[in-house]
Formats: sequence, structure tokens, C-alpha cells
Amino acid sequence: MNAPDTPFPFDAAVAAAADRIRAKIVAWRRDIHQNPELGNREHRTAKLVADHLRSLGFDHVREKVAHTGVVGLLKGGLPGPVVALRADMDGLPVIEETDVPFKSTVRTEWNNMECGVMHACGHDAHTSILMGVAEVLAEVRERIPGTVKFIFQPAEETPPIGENGGAKMMIEEGCLEDPDVEAIFGLHVTSVFPTGMIGYRSGPAMASADDFRIFVRGTQTHAAMPWRGVDPIVVSSQIVLGLQTIVSRRMNITHEPSIVTVGVFHGGVRHNIIPDEVKLEGTIRSFDEKQRDELHGHVTRISEMIAASGGATAKVHIHRWYDVTVNHPGLTAWSIPTLSRVAGEANVREVDKICGAEDFSFYQKEVPGLFYWMGCTPSDRDCTKAAPNHSPRFYVDEECLPLGVKTMCALALDWLAANAPRKA
Ligand SMILES: [Zn+2]
Ligand SMILES: [Zn+2]
Repeated sequence: MNAPDTPFPFDAAVAAAADRIRAKIVAWRRDIHQNPELGNREHRTAKLVADHLRSLGFDHVREKVAHTGVVGLLKGGLPGPVVALRADMDGLPVIEETDVPFKSTVRTEWNNMECGVMHACGHDAHTSILMGVAEVLAEVRERIPGTVKFIFQPAEETPPIGENGGAKMMIEEGCLEDPDVEAIFGLHVTSVFPTGMIGYRSGPAMASADDFRIFVRGTQTHAAMPWRGVDPIVVSSQIVLGLQTIVSRRMNITHEPSIVTVGVFHGGVRHNIIPDEVKLEGTIRSFDEKQRDELHGHVTRISEMIAASGGATAKVHIHRWYDVTVNHPGLTAWSIPTLSRVAGEANVREVDKICGAEDFSFYQKEVPGLFYWMGCTPSDRDCTKAAPNHSPRFYVDEECLPLGVKTMCALALDWLAANAPRKA
């Protein structure tokens, strides 16, 4: 009996290699952190990644996928299937407020507005972890039964207005084909958990995310003579309250939770004028595609009918962003022993759903996938008080990086070993 039948093929070699290159992984992460780039602008980061994969003797390195994405192929020395590992590379338009010595001072433009750039979601950690995985697996490639595809993706946080990008575009440009990927793994660092902890959830794990804009049109008039016009501010206020009845009165919350939030309410220029129009904006989150469609229907109908009841009109635009991130139940169950073996059983926990969204969901619609979370708050700090992802004070404990490398390596190697052709 040989490697494909051994359940834990390379633990010792992988752990040793990951520990050996630990300083390199930290250095990459700091370099990327100090030089963050926004979605579809990850030119420097992508070059760093592509040069690294080439230096490791990858069989194929494809650049400029979905603008700045990099897809690398590492063929093992033994026959077997294809597994993909994914990292995202983009930063956020946030002015960094941490006091790390490699803090970002980059300034640029986002949607025609001046802004800072910061790796406030930890994608610098994801990129450096996957670069580390590439180096470790390249070292043991002769013994790998199958192929590992490395997907370094741009614009996870959505591309700038008017541009396409992210996972959807990577898939459209063939990142899961030639050779066809049969399973995919991805991870995300989170301040919610301490360093060393891994969180997973089978089935719907992260929400779908859609945004809406509602233009409520009345008739402008003097604020002292409201009967001469139609007040869109009062009508819009009723709409805001009406929207709150969707989740509380119309959705079956025992099936899945959902959220409708209004985040923008704009209208008027002076205290003594009733304006013509009010603009509302908000977000819709759900964990079930059917409920997602129901939510959209309710938002539109409630807005239009409340507006009509007040003599106004409402035009509703809903933009579908990300689908529900659904972890394949079979693959998730299969992964838990591997994650437990690497991180320690007590550190691997099933966690609550997360109302944030991920475009990893698009890969999971094509192939079975697992997206898991990794704690990045130092264990001596209170996770409930740690600055969350997207905060200007978001902090990644670099102690978590080797665990990211080891779990990704182990998932890929175990999966290939479990699915490689059996020896007679
Ligand atoms: Zn994010
Ligand atoms: Zn993120």
C-alpha cells in the first residue's frame, strides 16, 4: 500500500516546511500590507505572486485573469484529480489607524473620491498564506497524487463602479477549467476568534448580499403649505418602517434569518422646503436563494404601494451582488478531521452563520467547496473588543499565518490522497 491509501500523507514534511518558511511568509505579508492595492488594481501584488510561482517551477502561471488575477498550476508526480485553493488579494478604501511599523500610508482614488488603502480585511494574510502553501507543496510535489490549482483572485470586495471583476469574472475566464477543478478550499481571517481557532459551518454559512436604491418622488412645495404638494420625506419614512416588517412579519425566520437595512436617507436642502425627491439605499441579506427572491419582491412591492398610498411614486433598483456562501455538506464533514488534526480538536469549532458575504460563493456554485474561518486576534486580547474586519484598526496576529499554511496544505493533500485512483 502506498501514498494514496495513507490518510495523512505528509503531515510531518508539511509542518516542517511551513515552520521553516515562516519568516518568509511574515515578510510577504508585511510587504503586501504596506503596499495595498484596491480591487482590479492589484498589479504589484499579482506580480509578486506570479514571480513567486514561477520561481517554484510551477507548470503553468496565467496572469491577468479577470484583470489582475493569477492562476498557477502545480502538477504532482503521481496521477490524480485537481483541487483548487483560493486567496483574494484586494485591499479596502480605508485609512489605516494601526501602529504597526509596516502600516499603509498609500493614498489613491476610489470611484472618483480620494481615499486611503488598507488591507483591512486581511487579504494580505490570505495572499501570503497561499504563497507559503505554494512553496511547501512545490517542495513535496513528486509525491502529490494529482494537481493543485492556485487561484489568486482580485476584487473580492467588489470592483469599482462600472467595472467587472472578482470570482465571477475569474470563473467566466476559465479559472476552474483546463484542467477541471473538482473541489475548492478557501479561508478567511477574522478578529472574532483568537489565533489558533478554526471556525466552520456546513451548508449556508455566509449571506447573500444585494443592495437597493429607492427613489421616492413627490411634488416640491413650501414647507408651510404641505397640502400643495406631496411630501417624499414623510412617505419615505413610512417606507423605512414598512421595510422593517418584511423580516419580522413576512419571512419564515425559523427556516433562515434575513436582514433588510436602510443605510442611506437623502432628501431636501432647506428647512422650509418640502423636496421633490428622497433617495433611500440599503442592503438585503439572506441565507436561502428562494427567500432572497421573496425579499426582493417584498422590498419592491412595499415601497411602491406605500408611495402610491401617499400620492408619490417609488422606483426601486435592486442589484444582486453575492450569492449565499454554501459549504458543501459532504466536503465540510470530510474536512473536519483534517482541520482538527492540524489545529487540534479543541480549536476547531462549528460557528454561527455570518451575515457578511463572500464571492467564494460563486466557485461553490460550480464545484464542491469549503470556506472556513481562522482567528487572528492574539490570544491574550479580548476578541469581543478587537477591531473587526474592515475597521481602520483591524489587526492580524501573524502567529496565525503558519496555521493557515498548514491547514490549506493538509486539506489539499488529504483531498487528493482520498480521491486519487486506488492502487489494485
Ligand atoms: Zn472584507
Ligand atoms: Zn475579506
